[in-house]
Amino acid sequence: MRVEPDTFMNAQSAASAIKPKDEGFRESDGRLRQLFCFWQFNGDNTDFCNQHCPYCYGGSRAQKSLKHRWIGGIDKWTRAFERLDRDIYFNLSYGEPMGGNGFYEVIDVIGDHMNWECNIITNLSYFPERLLKSKLAKDRRVYVHASWHPLGGGVWEEFTKHLLMLQDADIPTMVMYLFYPPQIERWREYWKWLDAHNIRTCVRRFVGYYDGKLYPFVYSPEIRNFLYAIVQPKTRKYGIDLHDPHGNICTAGKDMILVHYDGSVGLCADAPQTAFRFNLFDEHFRLREGPVQCPTHLCGGDYGLLHMYDPKLPNELPPDEPLWHDCFIAQTEKITGGGKQPVIYPKRAEMEKWLRKLD
Ligand code: SF4
Repeated sequence: MRVEPDTFMNAQSAASAIKPKDEGFRESDGRLRQLFCFWQFNGDNTDFCNQHCPYCYGGSRAQKSLKHRWIGGIDKWTRAFERLDRDIYFNLSYGEPMGGNGFYEVIDVIGDHMNWECNIITNLSYFPERLLKSKLAKDRRVYVHASWHPLGGGVWEEFTKHLLMLQDADIPTMVMYLFYPPQIERWREYWKWLDAHNIRTCVRRFVGYYDGKLYPFVYSPEIRNFLYAIVQPKTRKYGIDLHDPHGNICTAGKDMILVHYDGSVGLCADAPQTAFRFNLFDEHFRLREGPVQCPTHLCGGDYGLLHMYDPKLPNELPPDEPLWHDCFIAQTEKITGGGKQPVIYPKRAEMEKWLRKLD
């Protein structure tokens, strides 16, 4: 089994475009409407990150040159994404997207397409002022998924300052915290600050070795129960118990793709090397017309779980289990109320119960 730490969209003319979130995320039959596109514009995996988290699987242990960027000009990329003829939800991640060369070219081009929007997974070490002034921000088509890495070189004062800037700009933002064993208990202090400032947060399980033991299998029952309590059944099975998804039906390739910086295309973040047809720049490239059978053995992310079908588990979002979608900020905006509305945690009682045990 491959073991990695948890890490975590056709254009129309602007005149005919619609705002995806006004239309909802699903078709009437339950399918996700947008194409979910992981765009690794600044490199594969965690290359070119400016932090050095001990749990990182990409070897981003040192400051990189940050000179890396996609191959070809932004116009070429724009035409290629437009050819897909879909509403697109871009997910900018891998490494530190805000540090990638050409980041704001990407932000501007997504902003120019009214049926495109994006989520940025970032360590928020970069000053977000230009993002706040972008068309994407003004249209509220950008979401920020901020990962706080206390053991990776993150500076809390800087991180929180940037968070508050995003909150002031009414950009839906959420903080993700990895339950890497030596930093689990410190979450209590961060939770207190984030809760006091009405900033949504969630925790994720760590997948990998620490102190010779393989996580998440060796979490204490207490921590496992806490993690179980805040996610929905599908995430429990595939995200925490790491049940093998191999062979399951999945719409990756059709409704979700991973695009490498050179234009090659994979199914998803957990099957990144599975190029299924051509290259994004090939004018004959088409999204799959039907689902695939999962070719890999770990489906770790909520994005993937949204596209994979398990006949024994619900694919819909149960009203009392919304934390499954915590990474999918655009969806949870309906629950959280967005950037400035009070955050509601349906599983707050479970969270506080566990936190009290630490006091
Ligand atoms: S089931 Fe998960 S890992 Fe498999 S192809 Fe779909 S999204 Fe990727």
